[in-house]
Amino acid sequence: MQNDLGVLTGFGVREAGSPAEARAAAFLQQSLQEFDIAFEVREVPLPTGEDSLNVIARFGEGVGHILLGAHFDSKPPSPGADDNGSGTVVLLELARRLVEHAPENQRVTIAFFGAEEILIGYDGNSHHFGSRLLAGQMADLGSLPDVMISVDMVGVGDQIVGATYLDADATAGELIVEAAAGLGLGVELVQRGDISDHEAFARLGVPSAFLWRPANPDYHLASDLEVRTEALLEDLAILEAFLELAAHK
Ligand SMILES: [Zn+2]
Repeated sequence: MQNDLGVLTGFGVREAGSPAEARAAAFLQQSLQEFDIAFEVREVPLPTGEDSLNVIARFGEGVGHILLGAHFDSKPPSPGADDNGSGTVVLLELARRLVEHAPENQRVTIAFFGAEEILIGYDGNSHHFGSRLLAGQMADLGSLPDVMISVDMVGVGDQIVGATYLDADATAGELIVEAAAGLGLGVELVQRGDISDHEAFARLGVPSAFLWRPANPDYHLASDLEVRTEALLEDLAILEAFLELAAHK
């Protein structure tokens, strides 16, 4: 995961619609191809006139459908190691594992979202473009997932939080808490606002949560350059346990 992270941060600041963000999307596609993982790429139009991309991988078959997402853009001047290279590489590693051990009797979608961060020079609601687009597309097709987790900023600090969107359905957050507890890890359940890619899904009634390690002094700074391997491994274990639990609910 640290190798993948080094590649992502090596592209520089992955501002939405920028060449660096496009290079990150290409790296994700190439990584999925290497592991024979089926995926599709969808353009995400931005108000700047540029496009971002969603890279969407699918696993397993069955009635249940779990969506895990992580945004791969970063907010200038941050090279986004933690925000959100961390969630991106955790889900890339999870994708590799799901290819070897397909989820039983459920579908898992892993979405790498473009353009989560607020666009420079635009209002505070000009964000979450990739996830809002996918949520709308899924709603139009009647194929919204049963549960959604946004994995965002999970590589720094010991405190782990499961944040629901305002007072929306907390089931997803409760499942994260339960999954972590089974591993001896504490996750605090909190309510927050419009701060990550679970927002669009929560608004559409999907039980959704944001897995997050909030204590990062380098948040959105040029110094967001490193994450802890141990934290990434814990997050990966929590998500695997979550998939296991969710499959049996
Ligand atoms: Zn983020």
